[in-house]
Amino acid sequence: MQLLFERSKPGRKLSLIPACDVPAVDFGDAARDAAPRLPQLAEVDLGRHYTELCKQTHGVNDGFYPLGSCTMKYNPRVNEELSALPGFTGVHPLQPTATAQGCLEVIAKTSEMLNEICGMDAMTLQPAAGAHGEFTGLQLIRAYHLDRGDTARNKIIVPDSAHGTNPASAVMVGFEVVAVPSNEQGGVDLEALKEAVGEDTAGLMLTNPNTLGLFDPNILEITKIIHEAGGLCYYDGANLNAVMGHARPGDMGFDCVHVNLHKTFSTPHGGGGPGSGPVGCKEFLAPYLPGPLVAGNEGSYEFFTPEKSMGRVRSFYGNFLVVVRALAYILTLGKEGIPEASANAVLNANYLLKRLCDLYSVPFGEQCMHEFVIDVEPLKHDTGASAMDVAKRMLDFGVHPPTMYFPLIVHEALMIEPTETEAPETLDEFVDIMRSIYDEAQADGEKLHHAPFTRFIGRPDEVNAARKPILRYDFDGE
Ligand SMILES: *Cc1c(COP(=O)(O)O)cnc(C)c1O
Repeated sequence: MQLLFERSKPGRKLSLIPACDVPAVDFGDAARDAAPRLPQLAEVDLGRHYTELCKQTHGVNDGFYPLGSCTMKYNPRVNEELSALPGFTGVHPLQPTATAQGCLEVIAKTSEMLNEICGMDAMTLQPAAGAHGEFTGLQLIRAYHLDRGDTARNKIIVPDSAHGTNPASAVMVGFEVVAVPSNEQGGVDLEALKEAVGEDTAGLMLTNPNTLGLFDPNILEITKIIHEAGGLCYYDGANLNAVMGHARPGDMGFDCVHVNLHKTFSTPHGGGGPGSGPVGCKEFLAPYLPGPLVAGNEGSYEFFTPEKSMGRVRSFYGNFLVVVRALAYILTLGKEGIPEASANAVLNANYLLKRLCDLYSVPFGEQCMHEFVIDVEPLKHDTGASAMDVAKRMLDFGVHPPTMYFPLIVHEALMIEPTETEAPETLDEFVDIMRSIYDEAQADGEKLHHAPFTRFIGRPDEVNAARKPILRYDFDGE
């Protein structure tokens, strides 16, 4: 496929930008000497370029997208429409609050409803993603200990079944990470946890359901062990799609939590944003929250900053339009729809698990929450076909591959999360695809090393793409 610069022909153009209707300003010396070298194309060529690119990507509108941990569900279009209302898109963040009461109400109502769903008392909508929420929540824990003069608590306990962002966020905030192993059932090993806690424990970060798709049955015991050691408990709620409306982190003994609006609450993601990772906390942590927060009643909402606030973690009020989508989603589903959505997400995952577990090994797999992990190791042992090969072959069938090689505790892992928005026919089709890939592997495992066979790009050099990305067009080696 040709790049825009390769399609470019001098003099070709399109008229996207209207004529200037404000006085021209002379930038003097700051102005550039020559016009920027931009590709020159007719509108039709530009259109074809992007359509071609579009055909090479895979979104929820193209087909099944069981990317574990990412909750790639279908997001109702009505929420998109609502977030595009001019009253939301045309507002300026520095506008007097009296003229933006509707927007403040959106912030206040969304915080209130997410607090209800999570069992928390106060919430900031500022963090721009899940990992950013983790960073913010850990800052809360740190601020709390320091404010009490408890300066020796510098360790965060993270089970080995946690999402990879958990230990990374703890390090970003300046904590030391203490890893705790999983037990045979895939939950936190309580004895190891008891050994790990001490006077230097600042807190625990728990991903629940964890990356194996398991809800830890000892959750109350876990939070008790941490609290008795003087630490606080952080709940990674990015997997809230599995429990919302059924169980609340606040009731399980957690002091703070983040949720991913771009996973559970109806913002399309996968292209890199924008997201939103609100952080909720119990009353005693509220004074440290980032400001500004919103308080008040209809018609008289105001911003305020908590007394001991850690300061802002992002400009203005977070990714506001993502918040609008979340509120619209919560209001349309309502008190009955929210638990129904999570129940169906869990049902769909268990249906797939049951239908696949006779062919593929599911290491922790009697039952799961919203996702489960299959281990391709036995298939690889017998035929040579790896998790990567199986995932790559799925592309030929128009399915987005599951999350691969994660969690690390399962070596040939494929992490499958179907979500609640898929019909039984789609799940059955996926089972058929998984069965035929299994048969192909048995017939000729070697062949699968070369999959996919129908895609434009088959096996990109992922290490070089990450380490040495080429982000500039090379004009004849200049
Ligand atoms: C996605 C995810 C995160 C990180 O969220 P981002 O928005 O990608 O930063 C953290 N924890 C879990 C369990 C997740 O699934």
